[in-house]
Amino acid sequence: MKLPSQIKAMILDMDGVLWRSEVPIGELTAIFDRMESLKLKYVFATNNATLSPEAYVEKLASFKVKVTSDRVITSAICVANLIAHKFPSGGPVFVVGESGLIQALQEKNFSMVSIADAGNAQAVVVGLDRQVNFEKMREATLLVKQGIPFYGTNPDKTFPTPRGEIPGAGAWISVISTATGIEPIYAGKPYPRIIEIALEHLGTSNDETLVVGDRLETDMAAGQAAGCLCALVLSGVSSRDQAERWMPPPDFIADDLTHLLA
Ligand SMILES: [Mg+2]
Repeated sequence: MKLPSQIKAMILDMDGVLWRSEVPIGELTAIFDRMESLKLKYVFATNNATLSPEAYVEKLASFKVKVTSDRVITSAICVANLIAHKFPSGGPVFVVGESGLIQALQEKNFSMVSIADAGNAQAVVVGLDRQVNFEKMREATLLVKQGIPFYGTNPDKTFPTPRGEIPGAGAWISVISTATGIEPIYAGKPYPRIIEIALEHLGTSNDETLVVGDRLETDMAAGQAAGCLCALVLSGVSSRDQAERWMPPPDFIADDLTHLLA
């Protein structure tokens, strides 16, 4: 596919675009060499808040792709940015989430309060937490009901695993929303904030940046909301049929990243 010359940069989703679980999609080193030769800048933007940028760098390195961690923007980084905007000097927060989220918040000077000290929290942040339990959900619910600002990493209802789809961040967030009647402020796709952070990092404008993803309702919706050009790859969740019915349809549809860049 011949991409128009106005495109200077790409914002790449990872799961379903670069790999499916542990299996790479195409020859990743060749794909990154191709981006290099086309002089395309790139960053990664993922809704997965469980892993740190360093963990993604390691995963990419395992496929012989060398990148620096500042190129990886997760919904955890995005939510930490959002909360830091409200509380610029940091402070105590109550977190239901994993190490990727905790690290991103610590980097913005937030400290995690324990269940016993939950009452001190100035914000509640919920993401996917595979150690979730009743006590965590109880404290988060009590805080949100009291009016403490409530943030969600991403609204994904499910999280893909080799055995199938398991409850994702959105499913756990919905427990608290259902109990309180209060919806969180979301950071990840389909909201455009994560794309806007990626654009700031790239230093490119939305009309010269292509958002690439495998899911219409998250990747394409976020890219479109940010006013970027959008490419759907068919190597993940969404199908060509679904893409053609999506309004407005993605600017480009390709079998995978290799074909998009060919
Ligand atoms: Mg994906």
